[in-house]
Amino acid sequence: MQLVIARKLNEQHGVKLAEVSADKNAMNVLAGRFCQLASAGGQAADECFVLWRLAGELYESAGSLQQAEETRRRLAAEFGDIEESLQESLLPQLRLRPPGEDSQWRIANQLQQRYQVSQAGTPEEKQALAVRIFKDEHSPGDEEFVALRLALELFDEAERSEEVKTLGDQISMNYEVSIASLGERLLPRLVAARPAPADPLTGTLVDATKMIMNGDLKGGRVKLTEAGKTSGEDVRPDFLLGLLENFELSFIAAEECFRKCTKAKDQETARRAWNNLALVYLRQKKLKKTVDAFEKAMELGEPSEELVHNLGKLYALKATTTTSNFWDPATKRSLDKLCQKTNASAVFDATIGWQLMPLLAADGEPLGGVDRKLFEDPRCLFCNGLCRIPCPQCGGSGTVTQQRAQTMAVDPVSGRKLGRSVNVAAACPACRGSGVILCPFCDRGLEKGLARTAEQKPEESPGQPIAIPPGPGQAGTVPASQPGMSPTAQPGGQPSIQPGTQPFPQTPRR
Ligand SMILES: [Zn+2]
Ligand SMILES: [Zn+2]
Repeated sequence: MQLVIARKLNEQHGVKLAEVSADKNAMNVLAGRFCQLASAGGQAADECFVLWRLAGELYESAGSLQQAEETRRRLAAEFGDIEESLQESLLPQLRLRPPGEDSQWRIANQLQQRYQVSQAGTPEEKQALAVRIFKDEHSPGDEEFVALRLALELFDEAERSEEVKTLGDQISMNYEVSIASLGERLLPRLVAARPAPADPLTGTLVDATKMIMNGDLKGGRVKLTEAGKTSGEDVRPDFLLGLLENFELSFIAAEECFRKCTKAKDQETARRAWNNLALVYLRQKKLKKTVDAFEKAMELGEPSEELVHNLGKLYALKATTTTSNFWDPATKRSLDKLCQKTNASAVFDATIGWQLMPLLAADGEPLGGVDRKLFEDPRCLFCNGLCRIPCPQCGGSGTVTQQRAQTMAVDPVSGRKLGRSVNVAAACPACRGSGVILCPFCDRGLEKGLARTAEQKPEESPGQPIAIPPGPGQAGTVPASQPGMSPTAQPGGQPSIQPGTQPFPQTPRR
């Protein structure tokens, strides 16, 4: 009966945890709380008895002998002669429950990360590691249980039966398990789940990706170019270079990289390359090639989420850019067909930019641990994020021709001026001779409707700003949420131009 009540108190207040942690303060606090509960009244006699007893034992464990003696006196005062009923201490009998299988496995994985358990090969290494794990401090409860188990298994494999017995006793003393019922062993599972060592090329690619993510585009490029020289049929360096070139507005180079990757033996890589190649064509306003590349991507497997999104976006673009020099009828028809096949227009989300596809690592996540969100390209399609487009008035030359009368001669008889009208070059009034105007189609280089989301991103995920290469005549920093793979506008400090009444801009006239 006493033990039942003590167990209940253990569950409610973590008596055993306080003791296992050997935290004297925690034990004293808990003992004090039990004394208060017992003095408060309203408890059944049995419960009061157990509260005083546990408080006394906790004080004793914590070395607070005066308080321990005091609780003993209270116990004797309330319950008379108690010597006989105090034979067995309650505290050692309270058991912790071991964590469930799932969380044991999770904790074991954490310990594996910390100690590299699976790497200990020889009996000596295993023994040394077992001693280390045993001696280290672990959070009382679940983590400690798993740590003791791992240490025990390591001792077992090192054939240290003495230590195995000691640890086994300790586990069964503190936890509600006998060592025989420990179930499946953790160590062999950790060893089996050990990640395969990455091949050197993958390592280099991950390094290069990290450099790029940290803003060292130049270093990343050098690494990728070097890797590409020796990678043979493995096109992954080209794939990453393609993403980098696209970010840096070198679309011809990006095109070349991704075209190489579309010939990859690995169908998944090829499929991803076709999607990205389509977007690189799109940035160059090569609409027919864009649609053809999307079609190729579709031939290589179930259409990916990114592809369906991009098709939907392109479909919306088609509806709002009606000038014929942008689209030819056949390309429009091919796009319609693709959208029908994928039901693309229905799932299109207007608040997301163009979706590049990342190169995947063996675990199915983007290689180098890059956040998937960063493969979104929100740059304005008309200025590619530069905020400037060629002046439509002068076609980018900065000059216009004006007619001016030129005097050729004076008639000696009449005195009339003889002349002709000639063409002379003059600074274009629309762009004041610069050849470029602010892009009227976007919000500081970002597609309209995406600019707001892009500005909010830093608040959602605070990070260090990284430097990006300055655009022509501009320099600036962007938040880390828009790093290497996901280019952003390069704010030039110009005021954004208010849109016209069109929902989406028409193709710039040339
Ligand atoms: Zn623009
Ligand atoms: Zn002009």
